[in-house]
Amino acid sequence: MTTLQADEIAIAPELIDAIRQFPTAREVSHCGLTFTASPLAIYAECPHCGQRLKLRSFASVPEIEDAIDAVLEWMNDPAAQAAAEARRIEIASHD
Ligand SMILES: [Zn+2]
Repeated sequence: MTTLQADEIAIAPELIDAIRQFPTAREVSHCGLTFTASPLAIYAECPHCGQRLKLRSFASVPEIEDAIDAVLEWMNDPAAQAAAEARRIEIASHD
C-alpha cells in the first residue's frame, strides 16, 4: 500500500478545527419533538413514532463525520489503536 505524504494532500486547517469542535450529540427533530442521537449515527429511531430516520447524507462531498469514520476505521488495527491511545493520553496530559 502506498502512503500519501502530507504535501500530497490538502488538509484544511478548518477541518482540524471542525473535528476538535465536533459535537458529541446530534439533535434530531421528528413528530414535533427533538431528541438526541450519536453524532456519528447513520440512522436513529424516532422515540415517538418508531420511524427509522437517516441522519447522514453520504453525499459525494465528504463530511466531517467521514473524516472521523476514517480515523475510527484505522483504529480497528490493534497497533493503530495502541498508538492512538498512547497519543490520546499524551494530549490529555497537556491540557
Ligand atoms: Zn416520529
